[in-house]
Amino acid sequence: MKNTRKIFIVLFLIVLLPALFYSVYEISALNESEEMISHIYQRQLDAILFSVNQYVLDVASGWATQIENEIPTSRFERIIQSNPSIKSIIVSDTSLSNITVFPSNKSSHRASITSQKEMIARLVRYQAASYRKLEPVIETDSTTIIFFVSPSSINVVGIVISNERFINDIISKKLIDIAHNDFVIAVDRQSTSTTIFTTSSEQNATFSQQRQLWIFPSHIIKIRLAGTTIQDAAQERFNRDVILIIIMDFILVLGAWFVFRTISREMELIAMKSDFVSNVSHELRTPLSLIRMFAETLEMGRVKTEKKKNEYYTTIVHEADRLTRLINNILNFSRMESNTRRYNFRPVHLNKLISSVLAIYSYQLEKSLFTLKIELSDDLPEISVDEEAIAEALHNLIDNAIKYSGENKYLRIATSVNQNSIIIEVEDHGIGISIEHHSKIFEKFYRVSHGLVHTAKGSGLGLAIVQHIVHSHNGTISIISEPHHGSKFIITLPFIQSK
Ligand code: ADP
Repeated sequence: MKNTRKIFIVLFLIVLLPALFYSVYEISALNESEEMISHIYQRQLDAILFSVNQYVLDVASGWATQIENEIPTSRFERIIQSNPSIKSIIVSDTSLSNITVFPSNKSSHRASITSQKEMIARLVRYQAASYRKLEPVIETDSTTIIFFVSPSSINVVGIVISNERFINDIISKKLIDIAHNDFVIAVDRQSTSTTIFTTSSEQNATFSQQRQLWIFPSHIIKIRLAGTTIQDAAQERFNRDVILIIIMDFILVLGAWFVFRTISREMELIAMKSDFVSNVSHELRTPLSLIRMFAETLEMGRVKTEKKKNEYYTTIVHEADRLTRLINNILNFSRMESNTRRYNFRPVHLNKLISSVLAIYSYQLEKSLFTLKIELSDDLPEISVDEEAIAEALHNLIDNAIKYSGENKYLRIATSVNQNSIIIEVEDHGIGISIEHHSKIFEKFYRVSHGLVHTAKGSGLGLAIVQHIVHSHNGTISIISEPHHGSKFIITLPFIQSK
């Protein structure tokens, strides 16, 4: 018990404790790394949104440059024709007194500039600092980008751009390009929350990032991972990793438990083997000293009557038999263990075999005042068995019945036939065996270690040998027993052996 606890503590310290620490550490590290992944994704999405905005700005700047280049020729219509999202171009002087709109039928767009006096004043200041800024002015479904050009007769330019055309014709291509299969990018009109363009038809998805379009401030651009959100993806990974860790821990615990069980069984076996050695030595010494004592008494001629002499001779033979049986048991057990025991099957009448085995015990049973009941069925057919082996099994069962009978000396041997087998019962009214030992008593070296058993010596091999013999005959052995109510061993041998 002390040793098992030691093994448990060692296993716990070298396997389970590190596994526990590792799991706790891994799970907390997982949490951190999922947060990190989530953070990195957010940064990546941010960078994408930035690049889209930059692209839109580049397009608008390109137009501004084209327009600036055309100022001397005023051929702005050409620019409008080649860029369908440009509705009109408005040019003016700084004081807004001389405004021209291209094409001329869009003269209503003039208001885009006239209402922005303050902003134009600001642009003038920027221009003085040699910085050309593009300023968006939001209108119902268009945006006018106002900027300043180098001083000439024209100073202020406004490009009136149709929001939706710009988004669908120009931004969309770039978005499809960036989104590929990895992201979903959409552009929404902020005022009505309607989606103007999306790279995927997936509905109702939550976007993890969104930004205002710099030069279309009435619109926002949104982005998320395709198929799943970052949080979901991170959570999914986290769950999967945690499940893996749990499975790993479970296997580890199972392994540790298995090692623990194997080692403690081995230790039990070692303890049983050492008991076995001391028990067998004792078993050998008892008949030997009896034989010696009786033989010496006879040799010294101290026994006067023939009757007494015969009694001594019988005891000597009986004890010699016991010795032989014990040694045979050990030899047969070692053959069983090395799988070299061979059985020699011959047709045998079991009633006859039982009678001859009982004859060996008659003297002992009579002397110990045993009530003997023999109930042999007349219908028993001959069956093919190894006679010696079955006799050995019976010896072991009868030896036990005598050994573990205590004060209640009763032995019953019965045979019967059922459909396809012969049943042999060996019953006593002795100390009995409690249920938890019923299966264990058939294990090698196992002995019930309490009560009368302490005083009754034995090797712990008898029932293991009986079971081996019975199984080798395709039979079964079972037990009905209760403490203080005796035991009944039931052997069933099938006819299959018979010829
Ligand atoms: P042993 O040499 O100890 O008798 P066995 O293998 O024959 O070894 O029996 C194993 C154990 O089963 C015994 O130690 C004893 O505790 C128990 N046992 C066997 N037969 C009986 C019986 N007829 N009555 C009570 N206990 C028994």
